[in-house]
Amino acid sequence: MNGQRTVGSALVVRDETDEWSLLAARCANCGLVLFPSLVACPQCDGLHFDAAVLPRSGSLYTFSVIHAAQKGWKLPYAAGYVDLMPTLRVFGRIEVDEAELRIGMPLQLSVRPVDGAASRFTYAFVAAGSQA
Ligand SMILES: [Zn+2]
Repeated sequence: MNGQRTVGSALVVRDETDEWSLLAARCANCGLVLFPSLVACPQCDGLHFDAAVLPRSGSLYTFSVIHAAQKGWKLPYAAGYVDLMPTLRVFGRIEVDEAELRIGMPLQLSVRPVDGAASRFTYAFVAAGSQA
């Protein structure tokens, strides 16, 4: 199933390897990549963007382990920022055991349907090399 889907306010798309990836915006004027996209480029105020498929691997910049959440959420869980490109840091859930979490560890993006439905997607970061 090729195509484009939404994940929250963002988009996902199947990339050349047939895996789901996050779809970002690349400023047509200066080339800055934004995720999620903005109305104007914060670097040059440009208003025109092209689609940019983000890499599926990166490294963990920082994280926090969350011990409180709304009813029904599995606790604890980790959230953090992952450097996917030298100029792009993406926030998301980090699905790695708390004892294994390390700043700088390699992670890979996991984009998948919610509840098996192909109309809604979510994403998280998992340990590089894991099956998710
Ligand atoms: Zn720009």
